Amino acid sequence: MAKAQAVQNHEYEAVIVGAGGAGLYAALEASHACRTAVISKLHPLRSHTGAAQGGIGAALGNLEEDRPEWHAFDTIKGGDYLVDQQAATILAEDAVRAVYDLENRGLPFSRTPEGRIDQRRFGGHTRNMGEAAVRRSCYAADRTGHMILQTLYQQCIKNEVSFFDEFYVLDLLLQGHKVAGLVALELASGAIHVFRSKAVLFATGGFGQMYRTTSNAFANTGDGPALLLRKGLPLEDMEFFQFHPTGILGMGILITEGVRGEGGVLRNKKGERFMERYAPTLLDLAPRDMVSRAIIEEIRAGNGIRGDRKIDDYVHLDATHLGKEVIEAKLPDIADFCRTYQGIDPAEGPIPVQPTAHYAMGGIPTDNDGQVLADGGGVGEGAKPHTLVEGLYAAGECACVSVHGANRLGTNSLVDLVVYGRRAGQHIARFVKEAEAAPAGKDPAGEARALMERLFDGKKGPHGGHIRQEMRELMMERVGIYRTGEEMEVAVRDLQALRERYAQVRAQDKSARFNTDLLELLELGNLLDLSLATAASAANRTESRGAHAREDFPERDDGEWLKHTMLWLEDGKTRIGYRPVDVSRWEPKPRAY
Ligand SMILES: Cc1cc2nc3c(=O)[nH]c(=O)nc-3n(C[C@H](O)[C@H](O)[C@H](O)COP(=O)(O)OP(=O)(O)OC[C@H]3O[C@@H](n4cnc5c(N)ncnc54)[C@H](O)[C@@H]3O)c2cc1C
Repeated sequence: MAKAQAVQNHEYEAVIVGAGGAGLYAALEASHACRTAVISKLHPLRSHTGAAQGGIGAALGNLEEDRPEWHAFDTIKGGDYLVDQQAATILAEDAVRAVYDLENRGLPFSRTPEGRIDQRRFGGHTRNMGEAAVRRSCYAADRTGHMILQTLYQQCIKNEVSFFDEFYVLDLLLQGHKVAGLVALELASGAIHVFRSKAVLFATGGFGQMYRTTSNAFANTGDGPALLLRKGLPLEDMEFFQFHPTGILGMGILITEGVRGEGGVLRNKKGERFMERYAPTLLDLAPRDMVSRAIIEEIRAGNGIRGDRKIDDYVHLDATHLGKEVIEAKLPDIADFCRTYQGIDPAEGPIPVQPTAHYAMGGIPTDNDGQVLADGGGVGEGAKPHTLVEGLYAAGECACVSVHGANRLGTNSLVDLVVYGRRAGQHIARFVKEAEAAPAGKDPAGEARALMERLFDGKKGPHGGHIRQEMRELMMERVGIYRTGEEMEVAVRDLQALRERYAQVRAQDKSARFNTDLLELLELGNLLDLSLATAASAANRTESRGAHAREDFPERDDGEWLKHTMLWLEDGKTRIGYRPVDVSRWEPKPRAY
């Protein structure tokens, strides 16, 4: 296996890990100033950004009046006031420029009859701070992420970014609080590569694979955050994991909120539009945490379609009144998914849906330039400054800026990628001009090699697949939409036991080339650590806020809990600290829609 081969060395000024929207935008900006490499375990165009369907939010005001200020307010309220407000202001203001920038780079947005970028409604996005739903989501049919990925990839190729496709990052090289590079495994050969670099940016995406039912691809295993956690760095707000209300029944594959944005309606077994009872103003376009909880409430009341009150019951998403023409023009992929997986034409019958684990609000803590924080320094006058890790950056879903707080609004992830991916790339471009390269140490690949040697030492161990299955069930049952302290304590205990079993796991396939057994084992280790971080952060927060809904603490408690969680993993145990929330623009208020 890999240990027999010589280590291959590379030198770049900036190395970006991840080729989704965040990584590619950062690479594009960095490449204007320095030699930039992108390392990705998938071919860039297979990154999960390509799955994004419904759109990217920006207050262009192409169809009705809209303002970045309203967008910022909706983002903060949608995040149940755990959002850092200056960060959300940057997001909303820069979104407008970002969308026109993508258009100028060639992104084929859907158009109004007059030729402007078309916009549709999306959950939690409103006119004048809550009056009614507003058309803010810019889209390319239901293939917006795919188009973003294609556009940015072409631009990176034009800018001569070096791509290392199907390379899996194993280790980050740090000298104290300074980056020296990273170590990666070449999947095609099993060779180990060392990349020396002044700056490293992680843009490794989400980690929905912690859960049994998820909209996330198999590759979404949180490798970046888990690696930094093991390196002694903290993760922020891990308790906030979003369940999207409309996953295809039994599969979790996403039916975009764009269906409701175009006028689709959720109905229970009596045919009632039940969101009238939960969110009288925004109805089906209330934020996702609320709609997901409403579906569970309907199921618990026996109003699910089967009506047996079991947690895997479902409701209907009715788009039949939109008509075939609208569906085929604006939601063609969704129509295809329904036909393929359910044998249903959404123009003719309702779609059976249930909530699906979708998006990580928490992740690697960063400042507004994507620089990674090593501790819980504050914001505003007199606050303790952050300790930064020199040359280390994060952007996209794996990062926590924090612009999504306790619950992300739909369309705001794609904005996050392009706004904060770009800012991080620009900061890297400035940083590498000034920075000295840190020494990589005598044996930079030593830790990665030791990991490989352990996994290939020939001992027999438990089966990784079984551990993975138990972890996903456990997270679904005990750290899902509704939570209790008792359930989460059990989850923490069981996850620790699974981690102990995992330490005994060994690779069964000994081959060097495309060893997917090895890859899945490495990813499983990451998922276990992130599941533990999620469960421990959730058990610790004794209030309900956004996607963190506790039955034993049903109220939001700003007095005690208007603060970000910071979690460290030390000697296999979790330690929790806090970081203040920036509430410099809008006072927290009760959240009603
Ligand atoms: C079905 C679906 C629909 C969505 N629709 C929308 C939408 O309409 N609007 C919206 O705003 N958001 C949407 N989202 C959310 C949004 O798409 C994601 O949050 C976002 O695309 C993540 O982008 P990213 O750049 O952070 O990561 P990704 O696009 O997931 O890319 C991660 C990259 O990291 C690489 N990587 C990971 N680990 C390693 C490793 N160990 N070594 C090397 N490389 C590694 C991968 O190869 C990949 O290139 C949707 C999400 C899903 C699942």
